[in-house]
Amino acid sequence: MTARTIGIIGGGQLGRMLAMAAARLGIRTIILEPQADCPAAQLANDQIVAAYDDPQALDELAQRCDVVTYEFENVPVAAAERLVRSVPVFPPPKALEVSQDRLVEKRFINECGIPTAPFEAIDSQADLDAALEAFGGIGVLKTRRLGYDGKGQRMFRSPAESRDGAFAELGSVPLILEGLVAFEREISVIAARAQDGTIVCYDPAENVHRDGILHTSTVPAAINEATADQARRAARAILDRLDYVGVVGVEFFVLGDGQIVANEMAPRVHNSGHWTEAACVISQFEQHIRAVAGHGLGDPRRHSDCVMQNLIGDDIEAVPAWLNTADVLVHLYGKQESRPGRKMGHITELR
Ligand code: AMP
Repeated sequence: MTARTIGIIGGGQLGRMLAMAAARLGIRTIILEPQADCPAAQLANDQIVAAYDDPQALDELAQRCDVVTYEFENVPVAAAERLVRSVPVFPPPKALEVSQDRLVEKRFINECGIPTAPFEAIDSQADLDAALEAFGGIGVLKTRRLGYDGKGQRMFRSPAESRDGAFAELGSVPLILEGLVAFEREISVIAARAQDGTIVCYDPAENVHRDGILHTSTVPAAINEATADQARRAARAILDRLDYVGVVGVEFFVLGDGQIVANEMAPRVHNSGHWTEAACVISQFEQHIRAVAGHGLGDPRRHSDCVMQNLIGDDIEAVPAWLNTADVLVHLYGKQESRPGRKMGHITELR
């Protein structure tokens, strides 16, 4: 039986776009999100206004939905586990556990046979000193949990850089030190796995970040077929190992010789897959809804080359001009207030 009502934990723009895709397939959505009138609830059938870990709210969501999914990876694992006792939760809660902690994530990715940057767990300034020594004085220090869009990170680009107090500066929380990857470009693969184990992959996108936030995704990426194939195979390996259902986004660095190194995975629809709504018949959002609702997946083929650009903060002021540009799809998230660094919308330009 396919789902008629889907619960979505998280009320941001990703939840909003999932609710839109669900509506087009005649599927109802209920959002669990503490902020009333959030971007997702504006387009969903209903919202339960409560904390993500509120037991009563979770029980109500389970009772009113045929399946529950989520739009961000920091959903408390205990909440997903509570839900799973009474309703299917896709992607599986194990995917949350893996992607919430960069150390667990890197170990998991390596277990799938996919290379990552070298890494060390850092639990003290002494650990950091020793690991930086081993990495030749250069590397990227990141919080293990709750980092996103480049937040909670410190780069050591030269051995001369002072490392004193760096552990405390990042909050004296568990950290990971990664070797600095001398990449030529960054790409990501959006892939989906259905309940019967079928997998589809979109073409890799080439991503450019500004101030740690995704700026553009361009498709096709300037990579050869062998590199694209490596990336797709890596995404498949991750999906199969987790017995996954839904869409995943996997980010990679591409080295000068075309080899790939995985950076991170997101167990959800992904910003670098927003282009699929304009350049493919079936978007990543519909693909995710199909998978979690128990439908077959759609064709991920791309009918156009394209560039997706995020509209961040004041970029929103260019919307009237974008609305007057041919072959551009404008997508705004219904956020009342623009702030520096806040994702307000995106545009996809077909080429
Ligand atoms: P992340 O939060 O892991 O996605 O990192 C944000 C950005 O920092 C990435 O998109 C890269 O541009 C850069 N970065 C992160 N980790 C590394 C690394 N190990 N080596 C080189 N650049 C990195």
